[in-house]
Amino acid sequence: MPTQAGTALDAILTQHARQPTELLQILREVQEVAGWIPPALQTRIAGHLGLPRARVEGVVGFYSFLHDTPAGEYRVLFSDNITDRMLGNQGLFEAFCQRLWLERGKCSEDGLVSADYTSCTGLCDQGPALLVNGRAIPRLDAVRLDSIASLILERRPVADWPVELFEIQDNVRRAGPLLADTPANGEALRATLARGAEATLTEIEHAGLRGRGGAGFPTARKWQACRDAPGPERYVVCNADEGEPGTFKDRVLLTRQADRVFEGMTVAARLVGARQGFLYLRGEYRYMLDALEAALARRRAEGLLGRDILGEPGFDFDIAIHLGAGAYVCGEESALIESLEGKRGIPRNRPPFPVTHGYLQRPTVVNNVETFACAARIAAQGAERFRADGSPRSSGTKLLSVSGDCARPGIYEVPFGIPVHEVLAECGAENTLAVQVGGPSGTCIDASEFGRRLAFEDLATAGAFMIFDARRDMFEVARNFVQFFAHESCGFCTPCRVGTSMQMHLMDKIAKGNGTQGDLVELGQLDRALQMAAHCGLGHTACNPVLDTLKRFRPAYERRLKALHFRPAFDLDGALAEARRMTGRDDAGAHLETRHD
Ligand code: SF4
Repeated sequence: MPTQAGTALDAILTQHARQPTELLQILREVQEVAGWIPPALQTRIAGHLGLPRARVEGVVGFYSFLHDTPAGEYRVLFSDNITDRMLGNQGLFEAFCQRLWLERGKCSEDGLVSADYTSCTGLCDQGPALLVNGRAIPRLDAVRLDSIASLILERRPVADWPVELFEIQDNVRRAGPLLADTPANGEALRATLARGAEATLTEIEHAGLRGRGGAGFPTARKWQACRDAPGPERYVVCNADEGEPGTFKDRVLLTRQADRVFEGMTVAARLVGARQGFLYLRGEYRYMLDALEAALARRRAEGLLGRDILGEPGFDFDIAIHLGAGAYVCGEESALIESLEGKRGIPRNRPPFPVTHGYLQRPTVVNNVETFACAARIAAQGAERFRADGSPRSSGTKLLSVSGDCARPGIYEVPFGIPVHEVLAECGAENTLAVQVGGPSGTCIDASEFGRRLAFEDLATAGAFMIFDARRDMFEVARNFVQFFAHESCGFCTPCRVGTSMQMHLMDKIAKGNGTQGDLVELGQLDRALQMAAHCGLGHTACNPVLDTLKRFRPAYERRLKALHFRPAFDLDGALAEARRMTGRDDAGAHLETRHD
């Protein structure tokens, strides 16, 4: 296989014009041929791109889907979101490893197969799920897993596996104007050209469109800032790296409404003056790539992308798709831009913000998939129709990814401002104990808060809506999220790298029955440290699941503690008396704070 990849390398490099910004794409494609990225190929790639070898090695090491040691002809990664666990993924994983004589994370001795866990694959409505050589298989059960094991033992190429194994359902349970409409291609662009760029920007402002990625920044303000920024080149980037566990609405939007998303990007390009756009697609959605490329090709043929779009002289814009490679932090916009530039996805210092210093340090608009789809709708239909749904400060509809304990998991397009209990009733949830709104970095609420509304003015969300009924142990839910953050911390800054790991160890200690009240206090202190010193949002929100569940479900923690009240047998402050005497100090600062846990 490495020889084959060596031969293919020239073609891959040529296809990517030997551009260093294409490094991640080149590495990904080399791995698709070779199964891994051998050190010798890394050296060759570095030479061809004129990059230090350490840069190539750093990129390979950063992304969890790239590997520099053989991982087998078949690399099987089980999705390990909490909803996968609730559906029994761990038992399935054990059975799979037993059937194939595998040890977690290690390649079989004959080099055939390896199995491990990966973070949420965006299939929570049809889990448990896995990826085999990057292709997603949902709805695992013992029978399907047995077929997969047999296909591997037969050494049948994944491309020849039965197609029904890979069939992914949209599970749209409630469609609104965004999902139910089937607008004519080019409708939004024609309306934009007729109205003019300034007036369309004003229309988006009047619509009150706010970013659907969770933060809710006004879209028109972001686009205006990019438009006003100095410089000859601008870029439009669609963030389809939906890695927040429990979120899968972009998956469905890109499957059902890809044209609308691309049209929204093209509208944005017209308004800010960009000629190049990128769709950054998460690696877990690799299976969508061919269909999305085909949609782009069709749009070029229809005059909706390329030069002189719709016959308008000088309206040039095209879109390239970049695939991620398994790094949650790349969902953060500046990390995503670094990744687009072919680097490790480490968040940048901000300011300056991407609207003035984004891709290649040029003005760049980065928005979520749903935001672009909404912008296309506003451009085509106007602000008034958009504002007909929603609440005063959150206009329009919102796509929710509903998963967990309910009869009808899937996608719900709801008006912003809908109370949580209405969503629960609609999806058939019973005896609900808690809902995690917005994924692990969002908010966990209990039954007393089900009257709260999903809107930027109350419960802001990018769309994840995970339901836990009375059978669930909220400590274990939080522990899964804590493991997720520790795994996904990019390691760039010490507070987050060490803090997320300490948090995980504290939760493991409590899970084993060795925790004390002091550990609960320490969990709170960790949050303060991360809030103060972490470099990006991942670190700032990494303690949210613990804090939220401690506040609402404290008994789930306390019943695991060794003792509710604990006094250390060893008097540390007393032991320091000699040191105080030698330094001549006996003030308060020379004593350890007394803490009765
Ligand atoms: Fe990386 Fe965490 Fe620091 Fe963000 S806070 S830069 S994810 S280590």
